[in-house]
Amino acid sequence: MTAVAASKRILSKRILREKKTIGVMIAMHCASRHGKRVEDCESCGRLLSYAQRKIDNCVFHGSKPACNECMVHRELREEMRAVMRFSGPRMFLHHPLLGGLHFVDRLGHSGGTSAGTHQP
Ligand SMILES: [Zn+2]
Repeated sequence: MTAVAASKRILSKRILREKKTIGVMIAMHCASRHGKRVEDCESCGRLLSYAQRKIDNCVFHGSKPACNECMVHRELREEMRAVMRFSGPRMFLHHPLLGGLHFVDRLGHSGGTSAGTHQP
């Protein structure tokens, strides 16, 4: 296997894990705050599909400024922050295997004024 193929494999695994993670986090938040399942909750369902799309974009184009641009929906960004605040600490307690989250990391820092810069 070439090094490139190997890193692509790792990348796609990471994407899967991050999608799973964000799904769990949104589900926890929704169950607590809305008393629903994500499938039954319009706003959380929308947030989940948006987040998963964002993961695809961000991971593949992570070195480009597009990473900032994909947080264009302010309303969803606030929602996502609320999810992170609520579910973030709980993830490390209940789902430690899913806990190593560069995606969550990035979200936590994406609201700053450092447009155009990107932390690897
Ligand atoms: Zn909900």
